[in-house]
Amino acid sequence: MTAADPVLRGTPNPAAVDGSADRTDWVAAIPFFVAHLIPLAAFFVVVTWEDWVLCAVLYGGRMFFITAGYHRYFSHRSYRMGRVAQFLMALGGTTALQKGPLWWAGHHRVHHRYTDLDDDVHSPRDGFWWSHVGWILSTRYKEADLTAIKDFAGFPELRLLERASWIGPWLLGAACFLIGGWGGVVIGFFLSTVLLWHGTFVVNSMAHLMGRRRYATPDTSRNSMVIAVITGGEGWHNNHHYLPASARQGFTWWEIDPTWYALRGLAALRIVRDLRDPPARLLDQARVRDGAFDIGMFRSYWERAAKVTGERIADLSARPMAPSAEAHDADVTMPAADEAGAEEVPSGEARPEEAGEPLSHLAGLISRVLESADQLAASTRRTRQASKVTSREQGHPDPAE
Ligand SMILES: [Zn+2]
Ligand SMILES: [Zn+2]
Repeated sequence: MTAADPVLRGTPNPAAVDGSADRTDWVAAIPFFVAHLIPLAAFFVVVTWEDWVLCAVLYGGRMFFITAGYHRYFSHRSYRMGRVAQFLMALGGTTALQKGPLWWAGHHRVHHRYTDLDDDVHSPRDGFWWSHVGWILSTRYKEADLTAIKDFAGFPELRLLERASWIGPWLLGAACFLIGGWGGVVIGFFLSTVLLWHGTFVVNSMAHLMGRRRYATPDTSRNSMVIAVITGGEGWHNNHHYLPASARQGFTWWEIDPTWYALRGLAALRIVRDLRDPPARLLDQARVRDGAFDIGMFRSYWERAAKVTGERIADLSARPMAPSAEAHDADVTMPAADEAGAEEVPSGEARPEEAGEPLSHLAGLISRVLESADQLAASTRRTRQASKVTSREQGHPDPAE
């Protein structure tokens, strides 16, 4: 079972199958799981309404540093800001306990480059758990991928923050204690942190599973109002995969995008500048009716069919190899084993090897269609890349994915 086998491309990452690279780092994951239990301590300490306000403020505020900073700025460069503001945005992001900006943005760029392909860091085709949190806890993606984020890795202050990303959370936790005592720590800091984790993670998992599609992107991204509310505007994920370099992700008046509104406010204060709007001429291109069989969904469905067929073939080819109880007793020759296998097949049902024959043809057909779909998806990406080059020529800064 290898990635090179086109029939089995719908299976999880090969390394996940043999467990060589995708093992969960359980020791490093202990703080993550313990943090989930700490809010239960609220039953044993004094909790005031101020602690709940602190929880809400720290959820919303830190979500902004993730969406506007780690995501729309460091991952996609969808606007500009000065070096001090850039550092403060990165520092604010570290308080969300989602590692450093280079780790976060580097892996996110890889997600955009290989969305729903084998090299995607968190595609739900590798399972919900993997896309939600498994990839973060795995040994495979423990380190920052600096090759994907060379443009920011050159800043020494960002590299320092990357190594010392624990300072921000500790300072914030201490501030919560000074503000609200243990209630401030348990509810204000830890509960908001856990909610913030899962609020952010649903973009990687659910935003590729739940919602509607407006654009025929070569992936399974979707638009969801629920996720937009949870994440301050990141739920318009199909819009975002269509135009990743846009600072605005809600493209219509009703697609709420608080991160965008806040960025507009910061632009008015001249803290950020050159916010990139979705180019008007691209908004109506590549539109697809929701539920239509566009290229991204087609590949997803077809991969699933390939996976089921591949498993069925593996199952059928494995069955004749399993000898019957009598075959164990005697030193049986191959014809005898065949006879034993023949007895197991109920009359009227095809023998496994006979059934495997058309299935192999089907698998070949599926893999060829999948290759065509891959080529079509690649050409869609190239077309979009070309339109981005055109928009760059029209004065937009370099679009980073
Ligand atoms: Zn995505
Ligand atoms: Zn993105």
